[in-house]
Amino acid sequence: MKEEIEKLQRYVDESKSIVFFGGAGVSTESGIPDFRSVDGLYNQQWDWPPEEILSSTFFYTNTKEFYRFYRAKILLQGAKPNAAHLKLAEMEKKGKLKAIITQNIDGLHQAAGSKNVFELHGSTLRNYCTSCHKFFDLEYIINNRDENGIPRCDNCNSIIKPDVVLYEESLKKNIINSSIKALKEADLLIIGGTSLTVYPAAGLVNYFTGEKLVLINKDSTTEDEIATLVIHGKIGEVLSQIQV
Ligand code: NAD
Ligand code: ZN
Repeated sequence: MKEEIEKLQRYVDESKSIVFFGGAGVSTESGIPDFRSVDGLYNQQWDWPPEEILSSTFFYTNTKEFYRFYRAKILLQGAKPNAAHLKLAEMEKKGKLKAIITQNIDGLHQAAGSKNVFELHGSTLRNYCTSCHKFFDLEYIINNRDENGIPRCDNCNSIIKPDVVLYEESLKKNIINSSIKALKEADLLIIGGTSLTVYPAAGLVNYFTGEKLVLINKDSTTEDEIATLVIHGKIGEVLSQIQV
């Protein structure tokens, strides 16, 4: 891997406008399972497949079961930013990295100090009442549950919904537009820890027209052929070796 790391270091040194595009694999080293690894959520036993539980229809028709899964598998307390989150935050601070576009909903990039983060799928840290739209933080969701485990609004008693883009829901226009703008202006795109199979998010990387595209993933992905540099390894271990 040494040669690949040296090449990545060269790319980072030469670039002025880096964009990072990431997914669940960025947070596995923080102890949050991804979806598609062998020990990911898709390979664990549950009564429904995760993409069904995490759909809008399921949320409104089977809210109890949604929250049972959500509390057990998505809301993992105590997760801390890992070496990947920290290095990316440092890159932004030094003016090298212009944006992080993430499919993750765990808020760990911001916890590491990153500012310009486009959360394509929203965040578990923000939650709204489905009736009066009052805002609730994560702590409220964790500490408040009715007899079915559902968090309810302290203003109108309606169900609270996480500000997370569920299956069947659309991505926010302004976040897509900001992501596209950052990708178009980037001279280096680093894609890491994503299977690039969740659309439309994965399709956004096609807006990058620069020359250097780096892919960091434990396994091969569909985009390995189009990358100028592919590093098969753990993203925290890889990025921690880069100097900025
Ligand atoms: P995915 O589960 O489909 O793919 C994760 C990819 O990361 C896999 O290819 C895996 O091999 C790789 N990977 C795992 N650990 C890695 C590591 N340490 N270093 C390098 N690569 C690693 O995830 P996805 O592509 O992001 O799509 C899944 C969807 O699930 C997304 O929409 C995301 O919102 C959501 N999700 C989010 C979280 C989170 O917020 N942390 C967790 C699970 C799922
Ligand atoms: Zn309310």
